[in-house]
Amino acid sequence: MTARITHWINGSAWAGSAERTGDVFDPATGQVSGKVDFASRATVGEAVAAAKAAFPSWRDTSLTRRTQVLFAFREILNARKGEVAAAITAEHGKVLSDALGEVTRGLEVVEFACGLGHLLKGGFSEQVSTGVDVYSIRQPLGVVGIISPFNFPAMVPMWFFPVAIAAGNTVVLKPSEKDPSASMLLAQMWQEAGLPDGVFNVVHGDKECVDALLEHPDVQSISFVGSTPIAKYIYETGTKHGKRVQALAGAKNHMLVLPDADLDLAADQAVNAGFGSAGERCMAISVVLAVDTIADELVAKIAERMPKLRTGDGRRGCDMGPLVTGAHRDRVASYIAAGEAAGATLVVDGRNPVVDGEPGGFWLGPTLFDHVQTDMSIYTDEIFGPVLSVVRVHSFDEGLDLINRHEYGNGTAIFTNDGGAARRFHNEVQVGMIGINVPIPVPVAYYSFGGWKSSLFGDTHAHGVEGVHFFTRGKVVTSRWLDPSHGGLNLGFPTQS
Ligand code: NAD
Repeated sequence: MTARITHWINGSAWAGSAERTGDVFDPATGQVSGKVDFASRATVGEAVAAAKAAFPSWRDTSLTRRTQVLFAFREILNARKGEVAAAITAEHGKVLSDALGEVTRGLEVVEFACGLGHLLKGGFSEQVSTGVDVYSIRQPLGVVGIISPFNFPAMVPMWFFPVAIAAGNTVVLKPSEKDPSASMLLAQMWQEAGLPDGVFNVVHGDKECVDALLEHPDVQSISFVGSTPIAKYIYETGTKHGKRVQALAGAKNHMLVLPDADLDLAADQAVNAGFGSAGERCMAISVVLAVDTIADELVAKIAERMPKLRTGDGRRGCDMGPLVTGAHRDRVASYIAAGEAAGATLVVDGRNPVVDGEPGGFWLGPTLFDHVQTDMSIYTDEIFGPVLSVVRVHSFDEGLDLINRHEYGNGTAIFTNDGGAARRFHNEVQVGMIGINVPIPVPVAYYSFGGWKSSLFGDTHAHGVEGVHFFTRGKVVTSRWLDPSHGGLNLGFPTQS
């Protein structure tokens, strides 16, 4: 029996019947486990209408009450995070501990948003002119759209919606059609937490559904996360329709290892950050830049660790799960063939892996290339799978230059014990998130997440102060309480006195 997954509109599961549906797979078995309804333009219209209707009273709900709802949601999600993690593993394939980790990182943003009273405070200047005060306030936008990728079905939506809702907006979320169930659990939890119906809605689907959101006149903003070509399309289309857009995009994250680094630590972290979640993370390390004096030793240390990784069903305590779909697995495997054909040294080949799982699963084992050249597709392209490339460089400067010349600028890391080199690195590297002896530098919720160059379209990062700014609009009020002595005509431009 396959499950039916449908939309969540105005506080309940959609009662209609969809013209189009999509298959949802269990990647560890390769079997279809569910059918997800695809929203038509009309169904998206229903969700936006529900969100629009819910907006006036939610934006006027007191900060105290909104805070209570946020806290209640935090408690419910924390208590039921295992259930969300299980839904993620069943549809995405990542191992359970990793799925739990993503829910925990999403919870951090909920906790950040619980401080909405503080986050939404404006400024006040008394007596800017005689008897005149000026104050600033930030107000919600209205209906906001969120479009999220398959690789973090709970955390990425939670980069946005806790802040959006705390600020008084109402939400229409369009999660990835590949793993839609986590968002349905989150919707039910919001309702249990006391969020009024219509404040949080979920529509599923593909391009038709996304386009309907991008073009809808009542949607004020779009927060998108996904691949670079789609992000560019979302940014261009959304802004053309007058919306505020933040579109977080693809990545190719480099880890620069200097000769003075602790090579065991660097090798451990290269393996963890390269193969965790089967490389399907926008902050995964996919390139190790090894300074050539230590490159042989580092490659040997990485290679000796790889056979210890257990690939298999994420519910069986393995280290690495399957890829999300058969098509994606085949695409990643085609990059391994391309790297070999281009002349890179295939140190560990992940094709035909030994797995603890069903034969029909979308398996690909960890793969390591050495002597990768910068014109090879395994270096230039985002592969988004368990394929790690080692590029040998002569110096710190050559490594830094390569990172700065790459199209993407999401995350990067340096491994060194030299504080001066680390400082120069963070100062000069053209990348949004930087790790110093930390391989996956995902910022905590009270800082903001986002890349540079082709890793972000728009200028606002997710969560933290930038997130609050994105989901609110500023006003400045200049006020004077009338005193008859201030009357009289004066056509001059207002100045302070
Ligand atoms: P994707 O671009 O295929 O899909 C993202 C979203 O866009 C999904 O909801 C999908 O349904 C929708 N979509 C797909 N094709 C579309 C089209 N033609 N028109 C309109 N909408 C469309 O991305 P994905 O494969 O789900 O996720 C992986 C990508 O996301 C990788 O490139 C990864 O780097 C990126 N990502 C980036 C970040 C970041 O913060 N920069 C975080 C996570 C993932």
